[in-house]
Amino acid sequence: AKQTGRARWVMFDQTMQLAAVRRLQLEADLRDALARQEFFLHFQPIVAPRDGRVRGFEALLRWRHPVHGLVPPAEFIPVMEETGMIDAVGAWVLDAACRQLRDWQRTYDPQLTMSVNVSAVQFTGEDLVGTVTRVLADTGIPPASLKLELTESAVMADAEHALAVFAALKALGVLVSLDDFGTGYSSLSYLRRLPIDTLKIDRSFVSKLDCFDDKRQIVEVVLMLARALGLDVVAEGVETEAELDLLRDMGSDLVQGYYYYRPLAPEDAARALAEQGQG
Ligand code: C2E
Ligand code: CA
Ligand code: CA
Ligand code: CA
Repeated sequence: AKQTGRARWVMFDQTMQLAAVRRLQLEADLRDALARQEFFLHFQPIVAPRDGRVRGFEALLRWRHPVHGLVPPAEFIPVMEETGMIDAVGAWVLDAACRQLRDWQRTYDPQLTMSVNVSAVQFTGEDLVGTVTRVLADTGIPPASLKLELTESAVMADAEHALAVFAALKALGVLVSLDDFGTGYSSLSYLRRLPIDTLKIDRSFVSKLDCFDDKRQIVEVVLMLARALGLDVVAEGVETEAELDLLRDMGSDLVQGYYYYRPLAPEDAARALAEQGQG
């Protein structure tokens, strides 16, 4: 059936309106989420493939909407970044993750680390170093057990700013990871100059690593680069034994992915720590 231009415009307009209304509703709901305690954290173990032991965790933010249930971070984090809410929520994440780490260090293993994602917006803002300072003082965890994850693209978008912020973070004694490594455009000279501790190889290179020669070669080059620069490597998104075997053989120190563990509720993460304590 033929549609007039006008009819199509009306439909388009309604769809746009609906999207705009949804977005406003999402924003309004997010504004209340912190006070209503709808945010919580999951923890995904980071494992040494050599012995299969958990060395640390990445804290991953979760939002349980009272009506819609779990909302994926990819949906609500961009909204929080655009509205500036990410600063308050990011500070909450940092504090909650460090408190949880303190518990687990006391109960299970003082060497455990906690990785916390820092958004590009938090990184460009002025609060980050102050927030980290306060959380370290409040929780009393050893600074070197906290790793801040910044995406390669956020860091390289303003590498001069990164030099200053990373220097301040280093002075506090915390560690810095470049997240989603390989998906941004790193300047080799900044990679050398920035005080980075860890490269996290993005899942897109790890996934089906055993099926593509070029992926294997890229991972090998990243491992060589990390070795040359004295950095640790975490391979993200390891899902299969074949991927794991290759990464272990190539000398990846640490891996993270569904093969070992999905992101876990705190009680399940504690159980994983308890079980390996006995083994
Ligand atoms: P990311 O930092 O790259 O985190 C890793 C994502 O990969 C997580 O998704 C994790 O659940 C998922 N993942 C881990 N292993 C596997 C695997 O083997 N296979 C597959 N397919 N996926 C795997 P999640 O939790 O949905 O988080 C998505 C993104 O949201 C994160 O990507 C990060 O950019 C952002 N995010 C999550 N929590 C926070 C937070 O507290 N603050 C900020 N600023 N961003 C966060
Ligand atoms: Ca991350
Ligand atoms: Ca990542
Ligand atoms: Ca990612």
